[in-house]
Amino acid sequence: MRGNAEHAVVLGAGMAGLLAARALAGAYERVTVVERDETWTGRARKGVPQGRHAHILLPRGQQILEKFFPGVERELIGGGAVVADPGVDHHFVMGGHRLVRRAGAERAIQTTRPFLEGVVRERVAALPGVRFACGRDVVGLLTDGPGRVTGVQVMPRNVGAAAEEIRADLVVDAMGRGGRTRYWLERLGHESVPKEEIDVAVGYASRPMRLALDARIGKAVVVGPRPGRPKGMAMVAVEGDRYLLTVAGLDCRPPADEDGFLAFARELAPPEVFEAIRAAEPLGDIATHRYSSDLRNHYERVRSLPEGLVVTGDALCSFNPIYAQGMTVACLEAEVLCRCLDAGPRGLTRRYFRAVAKALNDPWRMAVAADLSMPEVEGRRGPAVKVMNAYVDRVQAAASRDADVAEQFFRVVGLLDPPAALMRPSILVRALAPVGRGGDSRAGVREERAAV
Ligand SMILES: Cc1cc2nc3c(=O)[nH]c(=O)nc-3n(C[C@H](O)[C@H](O)[C@H](O)COP(=O)(O)OP(=O)(O)OC[C@H]3O[C@@H](n4cnc5c(N)ncnc54)[C@H](O)[C@@H]3O)c2cc1C
Repeated sequence: MRGNAEHAVVLGAGMAGLLAARALAGAYERVTVVERDETWTGRARKGVPQGRHAHILLPRGQQILEKFFPGVERELIGGGAVVADPGVDHHFVMGGHRLVRRAGAERAIQTTRPFLEGVVRERVAALPGVRFACGRDVVGLLTDGPGRVTGVQVMPRNVGAAAEEIRADLVVDAMGRGGRTRYWLERLGHESVPKEEIDVAVGYASRPMRLALDARIGKAVVVGPRPGRPKGMAMVAVEGDRYLLTVAGLDCRPPADEDGFLAFARELAPPEVFEAIRAAEPLGDIATHRYSSDLRNHYERVRSLPEGLVVTGDALCSFNPIYAQGMTVACLEAEVLCRCLDAGPRGLTRRYFRAVAKALNDPWRMAVAADLSMPEVEGRRGPAVKVMNAYVDRVQAAASRDADVAEQFFRVVGLLDPPAALMRPSILVRALAPVGRGGDSRAGVREERAAV
């Protein structure tokens, strides 16, 4: 199909929309990216309010991004992105266990979300045939009856402007969590799209800061939630000689006032990290965000989907942000779209939704299982989830003593390997081995806390 079809329109210029545009360029003569925000300032923008919070790109996302945009890592680093060796520069506490990592296993590229998106956006804008139509709200789909989507209706944001129609051979919804395609389809008479939803009510609060010159806390400190304490934090070095501190909690709202924010961070941060936070120079306000639920739309289960439509990113499946999967999953979805385009135009919509559902299964199950390990989250815990969560706890405990287990664990949560990799005999044996006296790494973490 590459190079044959005429026009594709992408709705939304967030990470998923940009990656979809990259997948489509070359397969369509023209690709139009429609976006409601008018300007890019390099700061978090209105259409992507989550851009003020820490955004970690998982290793698999890093790989795919470099494949899509050769040299992008170098470009990010040239622009100020922080390069970290997780084995040396990161401090990770998962499930209450401080994980040990080997130096030199991989390198992490750390940036803010607006910076990363800005670099990717420039790369996409330079692709042949791609243009941006900004300052426009997508307000509906155009169809030629029930069988085919033929474009979109958009409303320019400038006062008094008239609605416009953009005709296209393919429409890609990348409008994020608020994307309305499922409702538009219903309004056009299609059956409703089945969905799965887990209420998590995650509250976020974040602030950029500059550490004192003598602060020594490495390049990222991540403390994940655990059963009984469903709160977490990430303190991440990013471009501009800054750190971004994000705190989050399930079923709670981290405070946006100075004292409350610090008290929340103090509950989670190792003592030396909290001291660095307390002594740091704040570089902006404390931003908050509320994320209600994990949400997966099962378009692949709809029998009568119109051709000419695909959905990607958070509009298709949105994950509890605590697990940092969203941008990497958008990369995986763009890869799926590329493969489907390579196989030709026939039945593209159905083939895409089937293939992308398979790609989503592992990250979705991992996120949902992790959420259900928290007693605060409501949902059915079948035997498979219970066994999996008990086992993951053992893996995390083993990963606090054994760098091989830790590397395998990070490859799975980094979406480089499937969860089944944790069941390899070499990992099983170490995870299930009895732990000697004093071997429970959680005790160490508690002592660290008590000293704060
Ligand atoms: C607090 C928080 C922290 C997160 N942390 C991480 C992390 O650490 N790592 C990670 O990988 N992911 C993280 N995520 C998830 C990540 O932000 C998204 O999954 C990822 O960016 C993909 O989003 P998207 O492009 O689908 O949607 P969005 O980023 O929401 O972009 C949607 C775009 O569509 C535009 N748009 C919406 N409606 C319309 C319309 N009607 N007309 C025109 N344009 C429209 C918006 O302006 C926006 O530009 C986090 C999310 C949250 C909420």
